Amino acid sequence: MAVIKVHDKSFGTYLSEVVIQKRVKEIAENINKDYAGKKPLFIAILNGSFMFAADLFRHLTIEAELCFIKLASYKGMKSSGKVITSIGLEEDLFDKDVIIVEDIVDTGKTLHKFLPKLVHQQPKSLKIAALLHKSEATTYPLTLDYIGFDIPNKFVVGYGLDYDGLGRNLKEIYQLV
Ligand code: 5GP
Repeated sequence: MAVIKVHDKSFGTYLSEVVIQKRVKEIAENINKDYAGKKPLFIAILNGSFMFAADLFRHLTIEAELCFIKLASYKGMKSSGKVITSIGLEEDLFDKDVIIVEDIVDTGKTLHKFLPKLVHQQPKSLKIAALLHKSEATTYPLTLDYIGFDIPNKFVVGYGLDYDGLGRNLKEIYQLV
């Protein structure tokens, strides 16, 4: 296991680039099948999901739209618990097939609080694709439709995810040691 330092903390390799890429491709293939003949709108939640969204999107063979929104702030290594209202959602979701793209679902609070805002716009369907799911930590009721990896309740960085601003550029996902 390779160990790296981000700020003051040590992180060990957890998911390799190859493993992540294979899984992201599989999710895209499932979406291609499930949405054949449809034209879904992907709403990727910034900042953490930018890499997942980009890799997922390049494996899509169906027609699809993509937009990015900003939602919650996550300070340091504990969820701030605050959910900031969405910035940048200009799309009208009425009658659209919407897929939320999230980097990681931890307690589930962020999405649980945010989803009613989307439902209010009456999309035709609404699904969630999350690369990582800390299922042990999820206390808010949420249905995740596409999950990359179910991971233990430990802090992770890399592949878009940061620790206090750093580590997003890593191609692999690292776990706190
Ligand atoms: P939730 O609302 O589900 O508790 O938290 C969701 C958000 O918390 C994620 O979008 C992410 O920004 C942040 N988060 C949760 N766990 C981790 C983690 O292990 N590493 C990083 N970098 N962010 C996390």
